[in-house]
Amino acid sequence: MRKNYFVKLMNYMKNVYHIENGINKLTDERVSPKYKTPQVIMPLLLGFMIRVESMNELKFRLKENEFINVFSRGTKLPQIDTIRDTLKVLEIDGLKVILHHTVRRAIANKVFNNGTIDGYVVGAIDGTKFFGSKKKFCPECLKNGNHNFHSGVVISTIGDGTVLTVGFEMYKPGVDSAFKDEGELNVAKRLITDVSRTYGNLFDVLVYDALACNSKWINHCLKLGADVVVRVKKNNNNSIRAIKKKINKQDPIEIWSNEKGFESVKVYESTFKMDNVEQPLRFAKFAMKHKNGKRSQIMIVTSCMEMSLKTLFKMIRARWDIENSIFNNLKTECGLERCYVHGGKAVEAVIYLIFISANIMQLFLQRRLKKHYETQKEIIRLTIKGLYMLDYLP
Ligand SMILES: [Zn+2]
Repeated sequence: MRKNYFVKLMNYMKNVYHIENGINKLTDERVSPKYKTPQVIMPLLLGFMIRVESMNELKFRLKENEFINVFSRGTKLPQIDTIRDTLKVLEIDGLKVILHHTVRRAIANKVFNNGTIDGYVVGAIDGTKFFGSKKKFCPECLKNGNHNFHSGVVISTIGDGTVLTVGFEMYKPGVDSAFKDEGELNVAKRLITDVSRTYGNLFDVLVYDALACNSKWINHCLKLGADVVVRVKKNNNNSIRAIKKKINKQDPIEIWSNEKGFESVKVYESTFKMDNVEQPLRFAKFAMKHKNGKRSQIMIVTSCMEMSLKTLFKMIRARWDIENSIFNNLKTECGLERCYVHGGKAVEAVIYLIFISANIMQLFLQRRLKKHYETQKEIIRLTIKGLYMLDYLP
């Protein structure tokens, strides 16, 4: 049993992150239910821990009683329909509390003490649509013609080491425009206000894409005490157009050769004043020549006036990775798109549970096993093997 990774993971989850305490406090609005809320949610969380790829897979794992040994003898576990019904009426705040508790615990356990990029704790914000469908929909769906979908914005740490999702915010139908950048920006502002209330000044720098290249976002972040790095839009306001013009006439400030992945990177920069932003900002352009001869460029605006250009470049590139990773990871690797349960609170509940399980898995891998295993895939395989070998949990 010494090497049973499922047991190790369960103990870690229980003893270091006290997940059970949070799960045991969950409630829902079913009337005289056969199974209590924790009894319904725990198997689902375990399912997401071992990365079930669909609700159908979970259904079969439940039918085969695969999780039964995790619970005390005689416990009966619900079937998939009960799980679906419960998710729709689940009290969401309880899940949010578990996510926040896990992250706060990680902060207390010094996970971010050395920063995530060159000593800074950096967060990336990412918005996306999911569960898009022409046939399936629920009252909470956003609509574009006959296309139904949900949208949300997420913030996670980026850089080296442990990558944690620290907050999530859904679009509110009727409140947040589903089609314009402005809608996502409003959701993102709500999200980081909540994040700063929850974790204080966890983030030194917030990195976001071009839709946030405006005074509204920049002022909002600065007021909350976080610096910003944002990509620059193509057609932007007057002050951005002016600084772009100015930069184009200048010589590069630095030229890096053999920078990771590129043959060369020419860097241009200048301080400037953005319309409606009180403090001066910095504009930087990175012109990359790729090893295959192709050229591309990234332009950013930042309030980090003293930060080295290499660190800024690392941050914007890490944010690129996250664009391919937070939600895409969820969609492809965690089977988010195949775990849809529309209606009521179900979508939000599923996403919270996936984030909680992904965070625990990250912490387990990076902190408890200390990278003895190369990939998350490998450790998930070992965890499932451990589950099969499980007698009863001690
Ligand atoms: Zn829906």
